[in-house]
Amino acid sequence: MNKPRCFLITLAVLFFAGTLAYSLPAQSTGAAEPAIVLHAARLLDIESGKIVSPGEVLVEGDRIAEVGTSVSHPAGAKIIDVGDRTLMPGMIDAHVHLFLHPGAEDMQTVRESVPERTILATLAARADLMAGFTAERDMGTEGAGSASTAVRNAINEGLIPGPRLRVCANAISILGGHEDAIAFNPALHIPSNADYANTIDQLIEVMREQVKEGADFIKIYQTGRDQFIDGKFVTPFQYTEAQLAAAVKEAARTGRFVAVHATNEPGTLYAAEAGVHTIDHGFYLGDETMRLMKEKGIFVVPTFAIQEYFADHAATPAAAAFEHRLLDLHAANFRKALAAGVPVAAGSDVGPFPHGTQARELELMVKFGMTPLAALQADMLNGAKVLDWQGKVGDLKKGYFADVIAVAGNPLDDISAVEHVAFVMKGGVVYKRP
Ligand SMILES: [Zn+2]
Repeated sequence: MNKPRCFLITLAVLFFAGTLAYSLPAQSTGAAEPAIVLHAARLLDIESGKIVSPGEVLVEGDRIAEVGTSVSHPAGAKIIDVGDRTLMPGMIDAHVHLFLHPGAEDMQTVRESVPERTILATLAARADLMAGFTAERDMGTEGAGSASTAVRNAINEGLIPGPRLRVCANAISILGGHEDAIAFNPALHIPSNADYANTIDQLIEVMREQVKEGADFIKIYQTGRDQFIDGKFVTPFQYTEAQLAAAVKEAARTGRFVAVHATNEPGTLYAAEAGVHTIDHGFYLGDETMRLMKEKGIFVVPTFAIQEYFADHAATPAAAAFEHRLLDLHAANFRKALAAGVPVAAGSDVGPFPHGTQARELELMVKFGMTPLAALQADMLNGAKVLDWQGKVGDLKKGYFADVIAVAGNPLDDISAVEHVAFVMKGGVVYKRP
């Protein structure tokens, strides 16, 4: 696998080199890069929730050196004035699928080779970065195994443009469970999109294999197919509390976290009891689950954007009705979770809908009950915690990575500003400018 993947990444790099206006970071020569001063009409101090006007950021190398209404302008510094815009930290998407694209989710495993999917994933990473997402958590390649580690590494080495990534390879699931290619001719043995684990021993073995292959964290499918039966929202759980607790313990052994796809009770309760790091989707969380999540600091990552997309793009009226019903239930439960003080992070589940359009998630978080500031803080401050990069990204502070974007207007007045990203810097490198 290694040789073809290397070749394909080389191809991808050649492609990028020919089509992009910015220059990729040069390999270090030892010479100091000139400092950069960013200037804009406004700057968002995400922690205090205050807009500073005007706003300036001094960038030295890949880090932020100063932030304020005016910063020192060292001799020879490059000044970038982005005009009547708001400077803010790069956005964080805590739930993406770089290896998925619209219209092909389940059949990708069958029809597309892993090298083909890897090339598409590099394009997805570029699209997300250009939309202002400078850090992301890839929640599973869905059948491309640990190929996501190659994309992460190529980005880290400055070979291709993309967000900083936390990746998990495949998700883990039970035999006959979520994403197990159930509806095909059994004689063809269509593989699962996930890695199988049915017992604690198998969970630990699969997790160790994924860690060996470069996973930063572990993703587990904790609930299976969602249905409405006699008017009731019903979803089978996949792992017991004891099984998940063993997985959490094994992940912690190497400083890693467990994230679960979990949509409904009792699966979400088992996950909260086991002490997972995030509960993703979380369409319906019960009172005790919410209480535990608040107490233990477990984040819910609501993924409204994918739900809206599925509702708007359903294949049949019945499917559309199902998706709308699910979204209504989720929105009502989300308001309860906010009132209960459950920590929230922003994750769009982009991939099944087009990469680079997922800032919509923040608008939906506001639509369903958050203030624009709360949604931005969930995205940036909580996103940094979810990705385990607290103190490094998600804020404009001295010593943080210089991951800075600029949006039109004031996002505290109108959250849709996040859809209009005119400037993108990651690690001190400018990828997009007005
Ligand atoms: Zn997902």
